[in-house]
Amino acid sequence: MAKKDQQNFGQGSASGLSTGNPLAGCRSHSRFQWDACSLIALTINYLRGPRRLVALGPRIALEVEGRVAKTSQGEVPVSKPWKVIIVGGGFGGLRAAQALRSDLVDVTLIDRRNYHLFQPLLYQVATGSLSPGEVAAPLRSILSRQKNTRVLLGTVEDVDPAYQQVFLADGAVLPYDSLIVATGSQTSYFGHNEWQEWAPGLKTIEEATTIRHKILYAFEVAERISDSVQRRAWLTFVIVGAGPSGVELAGAIGEIARQTLKNDFRSIHPEEAQIILMDFAPRVLMTFPENLAEKAHRSLTELGVQVKCGAMVKGVDKDGLTIEVNKRPDYIHAKTVLWAGGITASPLGRILTARTKAETDKGGRVKVEPDLTIPDYPDIYVIGDLGSAVDANGKPLPGLAQVAMQGGSYAGKSILRKVKGQAKLPPFHYFDKGSLAVIGRASAVANVFGLHLSGLPAWLVWVFIHLMYLVSFQSRVLVFIQWAIQDLTFSRGARLITGSAPTDFNFNKEVGGGGGTPESKTEPAAARQ
Ligand SMILES: Cc1cc2nc3c(=O)[nH]c(=O)nc-3n(C[C@H](O)[C@H](O)[C@H](O)COP(=O)(O)OP(=O)(O)OC[C@H]3O[C@@H](n4cnc5c(N)ncnc54)[C@H](O)[C@@H]3O)c2cc1C
Repeated sequence: MAKKDQQNFGQGSASGLSTGNPLAGCRSHSRFQWDACSLIALTINYLRGPRRLVALGPRIALEVEGRVAKTSQGEVPVSKPWKVIIVGGGFGGLRAAQALRSDLVDVTLIDRRNYHLFQPLLYQVATGSLSPGEVAAPLRSILSRQKNTRVLLGTVEDVDPAYQQVFLADGAVLPYDSLIVATGSQTSYFGHNEWQEWAPGLKTIEEATTIRHKILYAFEVAERISDSVQRRAWLTFVIVGAGPSGVELAGAIGEIARQTLKNDFRSIHPEEAQIILMDFAPRVLMTFPENLAEKAHRSLTELGVQVKCGAMVKGVDKDGLTIEVNKRPDYIHAKTVLWAGGITASPLGRILTARTKAETDKGGRVKVEPDLTIPDYPDIYVIGDLGSAVDANGKPLPGLAQVAMQGGSYAGKSILRKVKGQAKLPPFHYFDKGSLAVIGRASAVANVFGLHLSGLPAWLVWVFIHLMYLVSFQSRVLVFIQWAIQDLTFSRGARLITGSAPTDFNFNKEVGGGGGTPESKTEPAAARQ
């Protein structure tokens, strides 16, 4: 297939000579002379006054007035700015768009949803601390002042790297000169997608509100049924995956049971809920230093969370899950199973690799060059969770917001340099600022620039960073107020049970009409001791 015509300003693709131009006559000279010409042009242009010098390539100065680019070889109409398509308005895509704020490029950001989602606070939506609107902001409003950028709502389904086009699910076809793919990742059930029905993951607002539904609904059902075995199953919560998201969820459910709901029920003692955090790994927070993982483990235990390491999930169904510990099978009756077990690349990654013959890592992430482009496709960048970039030691970079944001800035800057005809950036280097995991109120662990913090200091760092990175100022203020109120009162303001879940109870079928006769509650076990 023939490659679409491209125009790289800065590379001097114009025809015709302008005799009044300071660079006229430089074309046949040596490299050294070319660079000297560029310097002279820059100086003359500077002395000429207030005209905007927008680019100086190694060889040719380029300036834009209105929609005309003046090069050493004459005027070139800039009727066709460099078209950049960004797929995905998450951490990576949004940063790339912001880095591309320039008249020289025409940016189109496409996302299947109309908002940017701050995933690190999703667990707070799932546990009733924050409302969805507080962790998401409309992409259109974030970019409203960036006039070279338009936002389109749509799902990108396919890419044609030869003709440089992307295809949307609704049939639209859009051309690009540079493409940035930042479609992130999705929950991985390790080849058992059928478990998703019973064990929702935590990647989207919809999943977060389903989890919120399941947690709060479980206490409601337990309040209405008298059968102690069934009640126990409804009051058992299992979180699969003891990474930061699993730890955060388990800690928050512990707080809900022990503090938030303590006085709200008449037949049950919410604080007697069983909360199990399990992982096949030998300890929690495998990516954190061991001493911080131990501290996190202790804090979880204080919140009533049982940590089960070395446990492999073999099956999940409506009533619980089958696990294997030390090769011995076991079944846990639990009506609420939540999945924080792992992630895999978003589906567009598979299409992209099929079209470009790029390699993938075992998580399906697209292996990229040191400049974050796909091998042999210098105009296609893959950033964030979807890209598999490596550090100086060849170790793959983690799926973190910081990696995505830094990758987005890098891709944006690289494209601008290319359009301006400037030299390439050095290879992408990830600046690791550390990692954090919150366990509960005033409790967190943090590894910041090699400094190991825990408890209140780590929690304060966590609060500060999360507030600072929320994209909209309004969200920052609202979240700050919510947290302040909740931390003073132990309440959770967004405890709404909305929608439905496949595990919802049918009182008629399962109890035989009316929901049984709940007994009035006796003293909780802890109080009896
Ligand atoms: C619960 C949770 C907690 C986390 N906590 C932390 C944390 O504390 N610190 C941290 O650093 N990282 C954290 N992360 C990881 C972090 O959120 C990700 O690394 C980051 O979001 C990756 O950014 P991205 O731009 O690659 O993808 P995303 O932010 O996921 O954005 C991808 C975007 O692409 C869009 N999209 C996908 N497919 C298509 C398509 N075909 N067409 C159009 N649009 C599409 C999506 O709608 C989405 O907007 C957490 C993740 C989760 C799920």
